[in-house]
Amino acid sequence: MKTLGLIGGMSWESSAQYYRLINEEVRRRLGAAHSAQLLMWSVDFAPIKQLQHDGDWDALARHMVDAAERLQAGGADVLLICTNTMHALTAQIEAACPLPLLHIADPTATAVVAAGWRRVGLLGTAFTMEQDFYRGRLAGRFGLEVLVPEAEDRQQVHDIIYQELIAGVVSERSRQVYADVIARLVARGAEAIILGCTEIMLLVRPQDSAVPLFDTTSLHAQAAVDAALAG
Ligand code: GLU
Repeated sequence: MKTLGLIGGMSWESSAQYYRLINEEVRRRLGAAHSAQLLMWSVDFAPIKQLQHDGDWDALARHMVDAAERLQAGGADVLLICTNTMHALTAQIEAACPLPLLHIADPTATAVVAAGWRRVGLLGTAFTMEQDFYRGRLAGRFGLEVLVPEAEDRQQVHDIIYQELIAGVVSERSRQVYADVIARLVARGAEAIILGCTEIMLLVRPQDSAVPLFDTTSLHAQAAVDAALAG
């Protein structure tokens, strides 16, 4: 089994889900006593969040490269960044660290395409919904048409992530906000919804959407197990 290297803590609420999902999947595939061989470098998220909102992506890149180097030194064979947003720094991490990086958008888009969908709604942080690093990969590599919520809805989706979900707060009111945002994306033609932030799966359930949901946390965790058990 290969050793997975997880860059976590962004937030730890979702990193805990990664740990559980990866281990559950290894147990399912290999048997009851098996578990994943993995390392996690889990950051203090508060300064990361501040740097994101200050737009200091150079400093954020230094944090991510530092994490990748620590995991490599610890013996990781494969890297995962346990957040969609920080994939904005994929190129910098790949340039600094020779380990293969399992990009979260790839297993997600592969699953969407395999299910036969082409026009997807994307929910995530403002960085993920508005910058090109994520939408561009979905469109350029997988031919997906990506719809994002209108500005006011994007703000609400973003605020609920940073003010509630990363702090472990899951409320009915916010679940309804997300359900309404999803309904507006579906009305605009979204055939499926990508939960493109690793905490959204804590809030939104299949019954909150009229179309299929693609949860990046679960799909990334499954892909991690594929990589760990390959060859
Ligand atoms: N976990 C979130 C994501 O998947 C947001 C936290 C962060 O900014 O990294 O984008």
